[in-house]
Amino acid sequence: MSEVRTRFAPSPTGFMHVGNLRTALYAWLLARSEGGKFILRIEDTDQARYVENAVDVIYATLKSAGLEHDEGPDKDGGYGPYIQSERKGLYREYAEKLVKNGHAYYCFCEKCDDESDTGEIHEASALCPCAAMDAAEAAAKVASGVPHVIRQRIDRSKISTFTDAVFGEIQIENKVLDDQILLKQDNMPTYNFANVVDDHLMNITHVVRGSEYLSSTPKYNLLYEAFGWEIPTYVHLPLIMGRDAEGNVSKLSKRHGSVSFENLVAEGYLPEAIVNYIALLGWSPKSDREIFTLAELGEVFKISGLNKSPAVFDYDKLRWMNSEYIKVLAPEKFAEIAKPFAKITGTALESKWEMIAALLHGRTEILTEIPEKIAFLIEQPEYDVELFNHKKSKSDPENTGTDLPQLRDKLAALEVWNAENISGVLSGFAAEKEIKAGRPMWQVRIAVSGCAVTPGGPGEIMEILGKEESLARIDKALKKLQA
Ligand code: GLU
Repeated sequence: MSEVRTRFAPSPTGFMHVGNLRTALYAWLLARSEGGKFILRIEDTDQARYVENAVDVIYATLKSAGLEHDEGPDKDGGYGPYIQSERKGLYREYAEKLVKNGHAYYCFCEKCDDESDTGEIHEASALCPCAAMDAAEAAAKVASGVPHVIRQRIDRSKISTFTDAVFGEIQIENKVLDDQILLKQDNMPTYNFANVVDDHLMNITHVVRGSEYLSSTPKYNLLYEAFGWEIPTYVHLPLIMGRDAEGNVSKLSKRHGSVSFENLVAEGYLPEAIVNYIALLGWSPKSDREIFTLAELGEVFKISGLNKSPAVFDYDKLRWMNSEYIKVLAPEKFAEIAKPFAKITGTALESKWEMIAALLHGRTEILTEIPEKIAFLIEQPEYDVELFNHKKSKSDPENTGTDLPQLRDKLAALEVWNAENISGVLSGFAAEKEIKAGRPMWQVRIAVSGCAVTPGGPGEIMEILGKEESLARIDKALKKLQA
């Protein structure tokens, strides 16, 4: 069997939708699992949609996701150029071949160039009048420089059948297919033409792409047949859906949450977690296992595990998966990647970051939660003395009013201000008074944080805050209690 060659063929739109990333991932996995090649091709024939730096976003995303390509604009494998606009000169020859063998025709109608390039099927209501034009007459018009496009000529009497690796056998009556434009007036191919020519010239064996292209595939097959080329294996992927607050399911869009890789990363999801999560959106290892590194996915991935039913993007699940990935990070790694999210640069907390990070590590699901979790360290929030009430540790505002001044004195006497010594003061106090250690712990933690829930206990919090600030917060609490 010939070498498996898959391709990822994004249009440079400036961002990477998770659906596109999933396509890239599956194409990559297929190539890796078969010892084949993964090719990156930039599909920029729709120049009206050109976005600056968009290609850089594609490179950056693939790199960050770990999907290294074997060939592409920056890695010549002998099948270049890998950017469609740079291939512009080669498509006309192929379109002309089809005109000669009757599978395409020149069209001189106005407005033809405006036709959208979505690849979607619409009922071919009327045949273009140019379809019936005498070949010699059309050729003469072309020779004299009349603007024209080249359209595919479809034999509407037939039925097209093909097998998709995911969706199975697909049958479509050719009468619903339109004479799509192959080559535009400026010699730029449409996606519908370029994808066939390029996949053939680049020896692509497996076409992995979204199921929105499924209905146009019969037209592409007619082109392959018209050229006498081998049709690749099609692997169309199910739609990705989102669920709104009311439980309604529709195509995943911004109203469901972040939909691009960049935005998810900016929201504090780790690239590895995102990749792992989207691997399971439409593919299953046929076991309960959910956590896979990319390398592990490459070992177990099989086309037969792909599912044709739409996958629903579950943000809660992604959040859980992200927390699992965060937990297993080395502490230094967590501190490094979490720091920019903490927004503490230039503040007094910066020098305490390692310690803060250690408290946050096991308590963070997504990195953007961090500022909120540590806001009390920067500025103590207003709180009510009711917060000193805690049944389990038997703390209340009244006993806090008597305990706290004594605790303050003991703490003030500490020479070495660290979590261990601070905790020692609190437990020593409890032992002395024959009360639960939980009581002074609660009293002091509330006094210095003003929060019912904090990452870390009073010792750690006070070490981070420093002696002066801790005692000042305790004094403030005492005033509150007296009032
Ligand atoms: N440029 C197309 C897109 O971004 C690629 C479709 C395909 O993979 O053939 O949707």
